[in-house]
Amino acid sequence: MHSFRYQDGKLYCEGVDLERVAENYGTPLYVYSAGTVLDHYHRLDSALSDLDHLICYAVKANSNRAILKLLSEQGSGFDIVSGGELFRVLAAGGDPQLCTFAGVGKSQEEIEYALDQRVLSFNVESEAELAYIDRIARGKKTRAPIALRVNPDVDAGTHKYVSTGRSENKFGIALDRVASVYEQAARMPNILIRGVQMHIGSQITDAAPFAEAIEKVTPLILELKERYALEFFSVGGGIGIVYESSFASGRGDWWSEKDRVEATTTLPLTIHDYAAAILPPLRAIGLRVLLEPGRLLVGNAGVLLTRVRYLKQTEHKKFVIVDAGMNDLIRPALYQSYHEIVPVREPRGSSRELVDVVGPVCESGDFFAQDRELLAMKQGDLAAIMSAGAYGFVMASNYNSRPLPAEALVRGDRFSLIRQRQTMEDLVRGEC
Ligand SMILES: *Cc1c(COP(=O)(O)O)cnc(C)c1O
Repeated sequence: MHSFRYQDGKLYCEGVDLERVAENYGTPLYVYSAGTVLDHYHRLDSALSDLDHLICYAVKANSNRAILKLLSEQGSGFDIVSGGELFRVLAAGGDPQLCTFAGVGKSQEEIEYALDQRVLSFNVESEAELAYIDRIARGKKTRAPIALRVNPDVDAGTHKYVSTGRSENKFGIALDRVASVYEQAARMPNILIRGVQMHIGSQITDAAPFAEAIEKVTPLILELKERYALEFFSVGGGIGIVYESSFASGRGDWWSEKDRVEATTTLPLTIHDYAAAILPPLRAIGLRVLLEPGRLLVGNAGVLLTRVRYLKQTEHKKFVIVDAGMNDLIRPALYQSYHEIVPVREPRGSSRELVDVVGPVCESGDFFAQDRELLAMKQGDLAAIMSAGAYGFVMASNYNSRPLPAEALVRGDRFSLIRQRQTMEDLVRGEC
């Protein structure tokens, strides 16, 4: 679910008219709904309530401190992939002892930092990394808690750039090799075996691959449980969200209550379905379960507000040129991903036209929609690019020397700036 709704022809986030937020902070502007993030967190948490579990929010999906603070106040842990993300969690008041540290290329500085902060676990992705962590822990006269990341070789049926659980991906250790790497780990004096980890990919919209992967690693985990004092099994993240038709789908009276209800009852993968699929095999394993959702918690909780700068009609196409670009939201260019685009003010009449919505960046890949039938927009109109809360701002860059956009957070009928728009001065800061 999400909290973006039309009221009297105006697009609201919770109790706030989005036009007001754009007028206050300018565009392009990311706006997040705190209520949506919390709702998703609590629904996942309660769907798993009869299982000993810890949600470790995947910080890389949206790492703004205000978002991390919201979640840490709920008791959430965090899945981090860099020293920078650990720093952010600490800056947001999060508990480092509820952090799992993933990633295939951890540096010495990052490992030392994470050891100093006593993270819950290093999720180790190779034998070389395991040996490296052991050595660094020895230098610090401590033991590094670890889980090996198992690559279960399942096809999650997702985009090739976000698939991580196939044997050809760079992630994890092959299922048939893991037991012997655990043996090596057990012999390392400065390694403490704490768990088993996996993560099969992202934007997975079917529950079956999750259950399949758990079932595939179950014999291994039961065997490991006999030998080592395992404390947890982390099933990773990857739960997909609805990008298309979640909101306004081009079906006639597109903001009607009926459409909204229809959209929320046709989710490809609900939290309930996900929990129902993974609970039985997890109960059979009998370990504490860690979950690392990123997109699920924040994806539908954010929009990118953008203003129409120009309309341009060519022989072949009509272009709507907006002030947000691929540097602000790269998902369409990187993953061919779909984002709904809706007007913040309900237009008079509802004539539709076939357009490309493009940004100002000097790349043909700089688009948000191609050949899409949208309600007619005109210069100066404000539009919302929906479901931009995950892998949006975090992937923004300064390409074309465009300052990073601002971010705002809505809570009930209040809103505030949670990251200032960059200035021109910020663009050259640090250059000498
Ligand atoms: C990216 C990532 C996640 C989160 O993925 P989502 O698809 O956003 O849920 C979880 N665990 C690991 C190890 C990751 O790399």
